[in-house]
Amino acid sequence: MGYEKILENIRKKAAKINRPLRFMELCGTHAEAIARHNIKSVLPKNIQLVSGPGCPVCVTDQEDIDVIVGLAKAGIPVACYGDAAGVSGNLGSLEEARRNGADVRIIYDVSEVETPAYRTGRHCNAFLRTRKKTIIFWGIGFETTAPATAWAVKNGMTVFSSHKIFPPAMEILLKNKKNKIDGFIDPGHVSAIIGTKSYEKFKIPQVVAGFEASDVLLAVDMLLDQIISGEYKVQNEYARLVKKGGNKKALELIKSTFDIIDSKWRGLGTIRRSGLKLKKKYQKQDAEFIYKDLILKIRENIKTKPSACRCGEVLQGLIESTDCPLFGKVCNPDNPQGACMVSTEGGCNIEYRYEK
Ligand code: SF4
Repeated sequence: MGYEKILENIRKKAAKINRPLRFMELCGTHAEAIARHNIKSVLPKNIQLVSGPGCPVCVTDQEDIDVIVGLAKAGIPVACYGDAAGVSGNLGSLEEARRNGADVRIIYDVSEVETPAYRTGRHCNAFLRTRKKTIIFWGIGFETTAPATAWAVKNGMTVFSSHKIFPPAMEILLKNKKNKIDGFIDPGHVSAIIGTKSYEKFKIPQVVAGFEASDVLLAVDMLLDQIISGEYKVQNEYARLVKKGGNKKALELIKSTFDIIDSKWRGLGTIRRSGLKLKKKYQKQDAEFIYKDLILKIRENIKTKPSACRCGEVLQGLIESTDCPLFGKVCNPDNPQGACMVSTEGGCNIEYRYEK
């Protein structure tokens, strides 16, 4: 179906419902697709698309950032994905620590540490010459990136895990009455791992969608159908990649490597059974265990800096990025004041780039 036809259907259905509707997308890549294709501007006025906590770097708790930066500053080599290095805590960011001499390595893929060059120590990159057990890999992200970290653990890597699992956060969003969400566009990448079955417990219209403009528009159209018929279910618009039961191999990797624990999320607070911690059998590779005394000291010495950043509200869909008084003035991608402006999947960063 072409865009015009989908839009025509959306307009007719939105007119029939004739009340304001708020749909929340739960994936940074959806936020990017919506901004890139300027989808908000073509939707009927009574449909509002808001972003949720779909950016993994953004939802990472300040304390985790402080601990990993503290470890790097204490002389322990740290490896992480690019976006994670830029996010700042009370002790600054990993990027700043690196500029001041700390051993921080940016990787694109955790399997880099398993290359033959790494094992033989012949690679010119200093990172690859360092023994993998002495480097902490900062595992960050949802079910999408957790399988790669699990693989790294099984291959001997030391890990500091800030991984989170997504559905418990959806439960919190639904409990917050201020949010008034009429439907979820469920995250595409996370769903490819956990499957549509994981969302069936939520009593709200939901559509798992892909990342093309037509995917997002079709998801809106399908949500409207559910609202008109007065039902709620999980529909799968992204069936070309997402299955009901998810990716069994990836789920097994997660399950055999991590235990589920309570976890702190920026903006959402501590969420029950929403984080992933290395199982006891991998304790000797768990940075939390290896460096427990140092981590305790770092936590005790943290002095929280006051911040006017409203990232926590942006992540819950309670305000738009542009409602933050700092947006575009003192806060921009070159001078980010909060995590939502650092990550390319962050709501403020996306809004800034596409507004420009
Ligand atoms: S614009 Fe900057 S300061 Fe404001 S909420 Fe976003 S990241 Fe925080």
